[in-house]
Formats: sequence, structure tokens, C-alpha cells
Amino acid sequence: MSVVDYEQAGGIAVVRMNRPRYRNAQNSAMTYALDDAFYRAAADDEVKVIVLAGAGEHFSAGHDIGTPERDVDTSFDRRAGLWWDHVGKPGAEGRFARESEVYLGMCRRWRELPKPTIAMVQGACVAGGLMLAWCCDLVVAADDAFFADPVVRMGIPGVEYFAHPWVMGPRFAKEFLFTGDRVDAQRAAALGMVNRVVPRADLETETLALAGKIAAMPRLGLALTKRAVNQAEDLMGLRAGMDSVFGLHHTAHAHNAEVGADALAGQTAKSMKAAADPD
Ligand code: ZN
Repeated sequence: MSVVDYEQAGGIAVVRMNRPRYRNAQNSAMTYALDDAFYRAAADDEVKVIVLAGAGEHFSAGHDIGTPERDVDTSFDRRAGLWWDHVGKPGAEGRFARESEVYLGMCRRWRELPKPTIAMVQGACVAGGLMLAWCCDLVVAADDAFFADPVVRMGIPGVEYFAHPWVMGPRFAKEFLFTGDRVDAQRAAALGMVNRVVPRADLETETLALAGKIAAMPRLGLALTKRAVNQAEDLMGLRAGMDSVFGLHHTAHAHNAEVGADALAGQTAKSMKAAADPD
């Protein structure tokens, strides 16, 4: 079974994460399959708009930190930058090389895809899941969607693609990160983090209708408009801010590894879920 599905109709490509059993936790196999799908959609003249979706009840519960197919020690052909292979490199070197490629580098690469992208989000959009929604241009959320970045429990100041202050405002970003609490779809819309909230049953129809409307516009016009807003966002500090926070993120990983069990402060998918759902 493929970890990412690709369908195309009427100028719209739908790229769907397909590990529903694990709430679409992202292992590197999925990251590279997503990259293949985005590359295919970018290159195909028939495709005007790309929708990123998650199969099953949840968009994505984050990075894979505990399924049987976790593959952090596997080599892939690197594409997001020129960092060397992380496998076999000790300490911070391996972590920095890996996360530069598969987390920060890949999300930036996808943000720069010169066609509009829409994240279609239902259920959990947590930690690494946020990175995928945020690097899309628009976010359409089902009314059952929720958003959280609880990595402060690991002593870490937010996920690698640190867009928080730009997508929800600095004041709320601090509360979101300090508490790790879930934010529901309505609140996310009020914060400006999602474009619209629709009933769960209508998520696909509404998202495809929006995609269809955009797909009727001229291709180059859309590409230039996307770039205009992304450049403005970078001038508001997004790109440089993210680079500076990436260093803090890796200070946290290194500290965890130096004083404790591992770079995630001994936390697992199970312990993180138990902390978020005490009942
Ligand atoms: Zn990390």
C-alpha cells in the first residue's frame, strides 16, 4: 500500500497521506513520497491547484516517533538541500543534517511550489502535522479539526518549521506553545490560521469547489501572486526567524540527549498522547 495517493481531475491534484492507522504520522518514506507527488503536480501542465489531504479520521498526528515503520536511521536521496546523509553521523551532526533536509528543507521546498496549494484538514493536525498545513497557501478545516504543538513537554520550543508567530500572532503563539493545548477549528479561523471552517461531511466538496474556482485563473498570475505574498511574509521575518529558531530547536534536542535518555526527552507517541488525553 502506498503511503501517499495521487489523484487528478479538472485541473486539481489531490495528494493524500495514506497511513490512517497511525493518524498519518509522517515517516521519511512519506516525506519523500509527498515530495514525489508535489514534484509531479508542479511539473504537470494540466494541474493548476494542489490539495493536500489525509486519509481517515485525521489529517496528521505529526512526525512518526513510534510506529513500526519509523525510519529515522534510513538513508534517502536528499533533495531539499545539500546537507550530507545523516545516517551514521554522531550527536547533533546527524540530527541537524536530517532535520535540515526532511523537516525544514522539505517544508520550505513545498511552500515554494509555484502553484496554489490547499491543506484540507480534519481531526488532528498536531506538531509535524501543522508544518504540512502551514506550508500550504490556504487551509480549509472541518469543524472537527484541532491544532496543537505540545513539544514543550519535550523541552523543545516548537516544531522545526517555526511559523507560529506569523500564522497566529506572537501573543497567542506563546499561549499555544506554553500550554500545548488544542485549538479548535473555529478558534483557528478567528486567529487567521485557517481560511474557512466547514461541516466535516462537506470538507471535500467545499475544498474542491474552492480549488476549482482558483483553477480557473491564469497559471502565471497565480504563481506570481503566491510569490508576492510569500515574499511579503519573508520580509515580515518568517524565513530569517525560522532559521534563528532552528538553532534553538537543536539546542533543545542536544540538551535532551546530553542530560537524559534521548533527543526527545524520553517522550514517545504514547506518552505524548496520554498527556494530551488524560482520560
Ligand atoms: Zn526536531
